[in-house]
Amino acid sequence: MMGLFDLFNSESRKKDAVAIEIDIEAGVLQRCDVCRAVCDKGHDERLPAADALAHELFDRNDPRVAVFHGDRDELLVRLRSAREPIPYNCICEDAG
Ligand SMILES: [Zn+2]
Repeated sequence: MMGLFDLFNSESRKKDAVAIEIDIEAGVLQRCDVCRAVCDKGHDERLPAADALAHELFDRNDPRVAVFHGDRDELLVRLRSAREPIPYNCICEDAG
């Protein structure tokens, strides 16, 4: 049986996954074409584009943001906080 903490945890992970997806779409984060890993090259200048995209998804009730239950601010915060564990390099760049 799932405890309350697990439930919170999985919902939190789901929200971070959505935030990361939006960051990739806006160019804040990059997905490697080879290993499919996500990396963060520090494209902070793309954050306004990620914010705009987040608002757009809420405006058109996109199912991807349904997990936020209309809480735009939380998504905007996660567009930044979800980046913290993302490495600068993916494994192939590290190997090369
Ligand atoms: Zn790679």
